Amino acid sequence: MKLKTGFVCDESYFWHNTGNGALMMPIGGFIEADTHSESPETKRRVKNLLERCGMIRKLQSIHPRSATSDEIELNHTSKYVNRVKELSDTSGGDAGELAIVGKGSYEIAMLSAGGAITAVDAVMGGEVENAYALTRPPGHHAEKELGLGFCLFNNVAIAAKYAREKYGLKRIMIIDWDVHHGNGTESAFYSDPEVLFISLHQEFTFPAGRGALEDIGEGDGRGYNVNIPLPAGTGNAGYFNALDKIVVPIAEQFKPELILISAGQDPGKFDPLGRMLVSADGFGEMASVVKKIAERHCNGKLIAIHEGGYSAAYVPFCTLRIIESLSGVNSEVEDPFKTGVSEPPMYSNQKEAVEKVVKTHSQFWELAGSYHTYL
Ligand SMILES: [Zn+2]
Repeated sequence: MKLKTGFVCDESYFWHNTGNGALMMPIGGFIEADTHSESPETKRRVKNLLERCGMIRKLQSIHPRSATSDEIELNHTSKYVNRVKELSDTSGGDAGELAIVGKGSYEIAMLSAGGAITAVDAVMGGEVENAYALTRPPGHHAEKELGLGFCLFNNVAIAAKYAREKYGLKRIMIIDWDVHHGNGTESAFYSDPEVLFISLHQEFTFPAGRGALEDIGEGDGRGYNVNIPLPAGTGNAGYFNALDKIVVPIAEQFKPELILISAGQDPGKFDPLGRMLVSADGFGEMASVVKKIAERHCNGKLIAIHEGGYSAAYVPFCTLRIIESLSGVNSEVEDPFKTGVSEPPMYSNQKEAVEKVVKTHSQFWELAGSYHTYL
């Protein structure tokens, strides 16, 4: 039987060494050494949970190949790529701001971007309908010539540019639900009407000064960059409202030929680097809405590429729910962190934040409809 969902992973993703830290701070002074936020543990536990519950056998295993230098340079300068390689070949260091390169990280980052590319080929070639790429290091903060926020090469941007070049796609939609703004991806397509970038993120967080709702794209790309900054404390209800009022109606008009998700599970309610309240079931529901968009417009062609998510305990359950939605397979694993406390409602400031985005983007899109109307 042909399995519907591909799963991209490789042991070496967990060998990218970010060293010690404490939250996002380097150790030193009064900061005692702890595990770095972007440690292998969170992602390794995702894979372990998939194995432990048997879900992995319901997924088509896809072995990633390394990206070539030319593919990385679809989105980065050769000067920057060489800098990452040089650090990786010697003693390691920082490829920008908070973008740790350990010994050998260059090859792993090439395989991480290559994982996103391999997923594109598997989905576009019809080997699977959709895919989850558990890639590491993550990518969405990486700018053309600067590593940022744990990101070295921008996996999702490279995947989109590769898909466009190889398959001649004219309309690719990227939905970034990582709690931080996907600045690198925004920069990559800011004046580009062929790649629609929608970021749902916590307002006023990392990176400073990025993700404002007024940043709507430039030139031909005006209207194709949609920032949805949400207030701290937004939970499932607030996120669904943003999908309902903005993401689904815009997708209905854009008619994507391929959808990529920058799947950062750091809006999760236990995340140390975010202040949002999305539950594991909430992530499953968001993935289910995006899957419906993909089924409606592009025969289900959808690839989720892992970004952030720093609660080693919770991220695996959030990611499992996403993979359940993509594959249509119920793992029957209960969310052990369900407390019995009801999910938070949508407060008025969250509703107003979405209304502001609707107002800003109504000059480009018809935004009177909603999820329930279209799907
Ligand atoms: Zn993040």
